[in-house]
Amino acid sequence: MTILLSTLNARYTHASLGLRYLLANMGELREQTRIQEFVIGAKTTELVERILAHEPTIVGFGVYIWNVEETTKLVATLKQVAPHLVIVLGGPEISHETNGQQIVQLADYAVTGWGDVTFPKLCADILHGPKPLMKVHAGVQPPMADIALPYALYSDDDIAHRTLYVEASRGCPFKCEFCLSALDKTAWPFDIDAFLAEMESLHARGARLFKFVDRTFNLNIKTSLKIMQFFLDKLAANPDDPVYAHFELVPDHLPDALKEGIAKFPPGALQFEIGIQSFNPVVQANISRKQDNDKAAANIRWLCDHSNVHMHVDLIAGLPGETVESFAAGFDKLWALGPHEIQFGILKRLRGTPIIRHTQAFGLVFDPHPPYTILANRDIPFPAMQRLVRFARYWDVVANSGRFTHVTPVLLGEQPFANFMAFSDWLYANTDATHRIALDRLAALVGKYLQQQGMPGVAALLARDGHGVKQKASHAGQVAAPQRQARHLAA
Ligand code: SF4
Repeated sequence: MTILLSTLNARYTHASLGLRYLLANMGELREQTRIQEFVIGAKTTELVERILAHEPTIVGFGVYIWNVEETTKLVATLKQVAPHLVIVLGGPEISHETNGQQIVQLADYAVTGWGDVTFPKLCADILHGPKPLMKVHAGVQPPMADIALPYALYSDDDIAHRTLYVEASRGCPFKCEFCLSALDKTAWPFDIDAFLAEMESLHARGARLFKFVDRTFNLNIKTSLKIMQFFLDKLAANPDDPVYAHFELVPDHLPDALKEGIAKFPPGALQFEIGIQSFNPVVQANISRKQDNDKAAANIRWLCDHSNVHMHVDLIAGLPGETVESFAAGFDKLWALGPHEIQFGILKRLRGTPIIRHTQAFGLVFDPHPPYTILANRDIPFPAMQRLVRFARYWDVVANSGRFTHVTPVLLGEQPFANFMAFSDWLYANTDATHRIALDRLAALVGKYLQQQGMPGVAALLARDGHGVKQKASHAGQVAAPQRQARHLAA
């Protein structure tokens, strides 16, 4: 075997779509190419041993924000142990600002952007000459029809145990400045019939969980409807054999035809990830995000009230011009709309994104280490940003975890952001930790906090969430679950 394609996935369940695209497009080199995936957190020397066991001539690494540090160590060690090995890098983390990056200095070559045709050509040149002169090769974007689809490369084991990532299109026409897709300027669709034929064979092989990585599923409604119809047909053919699809949507574009299709899905079949990011029009203008807030809010409300979609809605704290107060107002507004989860993200400076044009004017200070999280800005000093970071962490383990569905609305009351921030500050003061708080202990702490706030019926509330916290007062059943929870529980 000559070429090894490798990456460190964030979890075992995440099967790398990028590596499978490369393998599918290796042409004459395909027979000499293999994939070896790893998971972050493994010992570097063990990875080196496993890579060298393949006796490859070339190793291609997919480099992402979650693995760049470990991959840098891996490349450094490989170059020590096997200096003859040719190392080629690809992926978003090395597609921009390559100059001065340690991992690029250590490797032999890097392919920026699309690797589907450039990587195989580079490998052919390395193996058969002429020896490539340049270290960094800008990926050539071929016509979409020339890209071989990779789905047959998902193994039976992948289908049985891992999330299957699929894409009906690449790119995004919007220009949100914090996002790498802002550089695309448009979206390029794959041939929808060829794509659906691949989905058909995946389904026939037993795939039931499809995660679409398309940046905007609802861009071309005709295509969205065709894809949804594919899943509706599967569900209709065998209602006892559920199938599950995950899509990313822009929130202010939900024409009636799409609503009609969405409304036909039973519970548990559809999950939407919807980016709001900020409800603040000034911030939206600062980051070049075009969003009709009224339409977006109305559509989220419609989805909550008239569909069975499980909804994650994204907000980002730390954007230029967003104060804690304006973020809080957006958070409260979103909570009132009733999505199942609010994904509370903290701004990150992804390599290549145009957000850095605001660095001076808004005093943006980013952590120089991955994932390059914002530490402070003109409107949110470091200590306040740290409070937001803790809020986000606790929000995940309490509100988004699904383990406190009865407790959360009570904890949030009439002022969701302010009340959860008070809880977050209290929790941190009482634990000194944001990670590894055992569930039993967390439930006990939540109970203690609510009791201190004079909340009646805490034990009963926690019991409804499955936590057996001993409390002095017992007002079982007195605190009714607000309407919103019914949706949480039904989903
Ligand atoms: S945030 Fe979403 S809509 Fe905006 S550029 Fe990125 S992918 Fe496109």
